[in-house]
Amino acid sequence: MTTSTHDILIVGAGMAGLTTAIGLAGAGFDVGVIDRMPIEAQHDEAFDGRASAIAFASCNLLKAIGLWSHLEAHAQPILEIRVSDGPSLMHLHFDQAAIGDGPLGNMIENRHLRLALAARLKEVEGITLYAPAAIVDTGTSGTRAYALLEDGRRIDAALMLAVDGRGSQTRARAGIEVTSWSYGQVGIVCAIGHAESHAGIAHERFLPAGPFAILPLTGNRSSLVWTEEARFADTVMALGPRAFQHEVQKRCGDFLGNVEILGGRWCFPLGLQYAHAYTGDRLALVGDAAHAIHPIAGQGLNLGLRDSAALIEVLSDARKAGSDIGAPDVLEAYARWRRADNASLIAVTDILNRLFSNDIAPIRLARDVGIAAVNQIDPLKRFFMEHARGTVGDLPKLLRGEAL
Ligand SMILES: Cc1cc2nc3c(=O)[nH]c(=O)nc-3n(C[C@H](O)[C@H](O)[C@H](O)COP(=O)(O)OP(=O)(O)OC[C@H]3O[C@@H](n4cnc5c(N)ncnc54)[C@H](O)[C@@H]3O)c2cc1C
Repeated sequence: MTTSTHDILIVGAGMAGLTTAIGLAGAGFDVGVIDRMPIEAQHDEAFDGRASAIAFASCNLLKAIGLWSHLEAHAQPILEIRVSDGPSLMHLHFDQAAIGDGPLGNMIENRHLRLALAARLKEVEGITLYAPAAIVDTGTSGTRAYALLEDGRRIDAALMLAVDGRGSQTRARAGIEVTSWSYGQVGIVCAIGHAESHAGIAHERFLPAGPFAILPLTGNRSSLVWTEEARFADTVMALGPRAFQHEVQKRCGDFLGNVEILGGRWCFPLGLQYAHAYTGDRLALVGDAAHAIHPIAGQGLNLGLRDSAALIEVLSDARKAGSDIGAPDVLEAYARWRRADNASLIAVTDILNRLFSNDIAPIRLARDVGIAAVNQIDPLKRFFMEHARGTVGDLPKLLRGEAL
């Protein structure tokens, strides 16, 4: 049996996994990354219609680890967010000019994020990729965490990170339980081209089935996340191109002029899940493996990037202090740092979705009163904007744009 040895072994080369790997390598760690998929399969230039709102603070992390030069040309700044409640005239308006310190975030197509990660991987030293590779077991032996691969290889490290997504097998093998529930909703995702400019404004419309988000991409294009009741998912996905376009146009209204669907459409079941612990024996959970939330606030990946920034700082400090990076007190420092922030966003997205995904008259009235109140009270508006930018709480240095 051949054994390869690293400081840190990351399971999962998704957006959170590779960002963490690049950040850790930049901090001087020797990192191994395993994924069951070939890396090239994830780095396809074809547009798959998916895009992410990357908060201002998360962009600081991407800048700090050298990804931004690969992304800048593809990033659409979010200058305003407008939230409206169905046909009600009440709406919330968040304008970055009120904060005056750069955009609320950037919309970036997932393919560009992945291509930037692939390009940066070629530039940094200290990362070994094992992909595609099938893991048959993970565990610990003495002061090492290990993964056994189907081809007989053994990879070990002082610390393993489970960044293998919502269905993390690494988490399950460590015996860490999760709480999860389904919202009975799906997120239908596609991109549109339109006649008029979006002017950098993100729109979130609360319709009875759930939020309908129109998110600005570069050029006259936008990304849509159409939340629909799960029981109608097959019907919507089976609509012919003209009928689908008609439904999209109806929901968008006419402020963007005529819209056309660009490329395909995708359907994701929506649910909430959180792990009962963020750490185990020489193990830390990062990203969707630790928490997967409703996309209502576009914060799922942002939470993963915040995990990543906190963990890189904790591990870098531990090494500078001469500590064992897999020691329980080091891992507990990471878990303590991330638990409260993640828990509050899990709760907020859950409550918002329940509050806004219905058409019950008294609830509609209450939320319209709430919207009107937030709109009138500047400190409250500022509070929500700081949350959208990811600039609240005890931020890790990389999210503040500072070196480690
Ligand atoms: C409709 C929708 C819209 C969204 N919009 C936004 C948004 O605007 N902003 C935002 O911040 N977030 C958004 N999100 C959330 C975001 O997409 C996720 O939080 C993010 O992609 C999770 O990344 P991850 O790297 O943690 O996990 P994943 O993307 O799931 O990556 C996991 C990786 O692990 C690998 N893997 C899995 N199992 C194994 C195994 N056994 N062995 C080896 N490798 C394995 C996989 O191949 C994959 O590469 C949205 C989500 C949805 C559904």
